[in-house]
This record gives sequence, structure tokens and C-alpha cells, in this order.
Amino acid sequence: MAFNALVVEKDSDGRTNASVKPVEEDRLPDGDVTVSVAFSTLNYKDGLCIGPGGGLVRDYPHVPGIDFAGTVEASDDGRYRPGDRVVLTGWRVGEVHWGGYAQKARVRADWLVPLPPELDMRHAMAVGTAGFTAMLAVMALESNGIKDGPVLVTGAAGGVGSVGVAILAALGHEVAAVTGRPEAEDYLRGLGASRIVAREEIDRTVKRPLEGETWGGCIDAVGGEMLARVLGQMRYGASVAAVGLAGGASLPASVIPFLLRGVNLLGIDSVMQPFDNRKRLWERIATDLPMDRLEAMIQMATLEELPRLGSDILQGKVKGRVVVDVNA
Ligand code: NDP
Repeated sequence: MAFNALVVEKDSDGRTNASVKPVEEDRLPDGDVTVSVAFSTLNYKDGLCIGPGGGLVRDYPHVPGIDFAGTVEASDDGRYRPGDRVVLTGWRVGEVHWGGYAQKARVRADWLVPLPPELDMRHAMAVGTAGFTAMLAVMALESNGIKDGPVLVTGAAGGVGSVGVAILAALGHEVAAVTGRPEAEDYLRGLGASRIVAREEIDRTVKRPLEGETWGGCIDAVGGEMLARVLGQMRYGASVAAVGLAGGASLPASVIPFLLRGVNLLGIDSVMQPFDNRKRLWERIATDLPMDRLEAMIQMATLEELPRLGSDILQGKVKGRVVVDVNA
């Protein structure tokens, strides 16, 4: 039986092209669980994988989609039965293994997590990899201690940033949202940000290694000069959870904030999280993230719209979370 998928192919000149095509089920990769996918999402990495791959994709043709929620259709693993609702993020699915931009996926049972009963599949994917990562960042900040003062979120109107703002605000923190989009102010206040910081206020070549102690914690989705400058603005002993590099991979920073202010730089990796962490994390998302705030972030899309949206996300033009209805 054939199903529809967004297939990325590479021609003999090395150019990639993504289009929606029927794919025969026997072409699915190896795995012990076959899932009927309901929703996937668009993340920054998906933008890379829909295009030339950014070094992430090994083999073509390729089906991107680094996360999905769906229903188990067949399982060779005792942990899952047909009809079970499952969610997947990480494990390089959508990069080196075919992913969620398809009506069917086949994966290893170890990579799946049962969907908490409180979450429906659309909301689970509104969270998706970006939200899962935001929750990981919040938990990392909590375990290192969030200090007095506002918690800063950079790249706030993007996927990780939006969910980060909503979770931190729901937990009662004062949240300062950094954005390069002045028109996103109402949106960010609606998610719970109490202060909007223009990108230019932070994003400048670092001139002094230490500035005023301002932020009690930070989720940084931007990296580069933004992260370097934020390090010098943290309160004594506060932590920055470094999540992404939307603004650059190099870090032109000084060691002084670490030496004189005891600042912690916490690396966040959502890809290789063991099952127990994933399960605990999804359960916390189900309880700590208000669904009305999540709803405000959602933009729905079809498989056909993904090539355009993939290019948009790489240019920082996508607001909130794009949920892909693979059956639309
Ligand atoms: P989005 O594109 O949705 O959000 C990124 C945001 O960063 C943009 O919306 C924009 O926010 C801001 N931004 C973009 N370009 C620049 C720039 N040049 N300078 C300053 N700010 C910029 O991406 P995601 O939220 O999905 O991902 C963010 C980052 O996190 C990516 O690098 C991604 O690869 C990474 N990531 C890492 C994960 C992990 O496991 N560590 C998991 C998921 C994502 P605004 O318009 O508000 O300024």
C-alpha cells in the first residue's frame, strides 16, 4: 500500500528537490514499530533537511520530519500495541532515518514515548522538538537554581523561544523576551512575557566582559554574539541554557563571567535523551504548559507547504510553531 510523503531527492549535479509523492510501504526503513502518523512539525533542522541537508542527511531519497505523533499500526515490540498513541522526537529521525513528513513511519520502539493521556496529538506536536527542548532547558535551569531577576529568552518569537516563554511564565517567573520582530510584542505578551527586549539592545559585538547583573536565568536559542553578550549580563551564579545557533555558531565570549560571576553555561541536547527522561519530560509538559497559550502559537500546514516554510524558518521568519497535518 502506498502512502504520501514529502520526499527529498538529489540529482546528479547534487541539487536537492522536495516534493510530495506516493511511497510504497515496503520502502520504509527498518524498525520494530510502524506508526500511522497524524501530525509532525517544522523545526530549524527540518528547514536544513528539506533543502540541501546542511550536512545532516546521509542518504537520498530522504523523508524529513524530526518529530511526529501518531497511532501504532503494527508492532514487533511488546511495549506497544496497535492503537497506542505515541510521540517521537530526536534519535536523528528525519535526518539519518526517514521521519515524520509522511503518512507512515517505521522506527525503533526505543525511540518512542507513549503520549500522556492529557495531551492530544495536535497539541503534542505543537510542543514537538522545539517545546521538548524548551522544557529540557527549563529543567536544566531549575536544577542549577534560577536566581532573582527576570529570566531572559532569546529568539523568543521562534519555536523554542515561544514555548520557553509560555512555560517559564506559567511557572510564575518574570520573563523578558528578546525579539528582532517589534510586531511580535502582543504575541509574546500573550504567551506571558512581561518585558520585551529589542534584539539590537543585546545583539552587539561584546565590548565589556561584564555588564550590570540583570538576568536570573536565560534560555538562549540564538548563540553567537547574542549569547556572548548575555553571559556578561547574568546575575551572580545564574545559568544560561544554550539551546541553538539561529544567530551563529561561533562564540566570541570572555571567560570573565564564569570566573568573576560564577555563571553556568548549560548545553542542551534534545536528540539523545534516554527513555526515562523523555517520559518524565512529556508528563511535565502535559501538566505545566497551559494549552490556551500553546494554541496561540500554532500555525497549521500541509506537506505541500513545507518547502516554502522550510526556507522561511532558516531566515527566522516563522513565528511560533508550525504543526504539519500529514493527512490534509
Ligand atoms: P526558529 O527559527 O523557530 O526560531 C529562532 C529564532 O531566533 C527566530 O524566530 C528569531 O527570533 C531568532 N533569530 C533568527 N535569526 C537570528 C539572528 N541572525 N540573530 C538573532 N536572532 C535570530 O527556530 P527554533 O526555535 O526551532 O530553533 C532555534 C535554535 O535551536 C536553532 O538553532 C535550532 O537548531 C536549535 N534547536 C536545538 C535543539 C537542541 O536539542 N539543542 C532542539 C531544537 C532546536 P525573533 O524573531 O524573536 O528575534
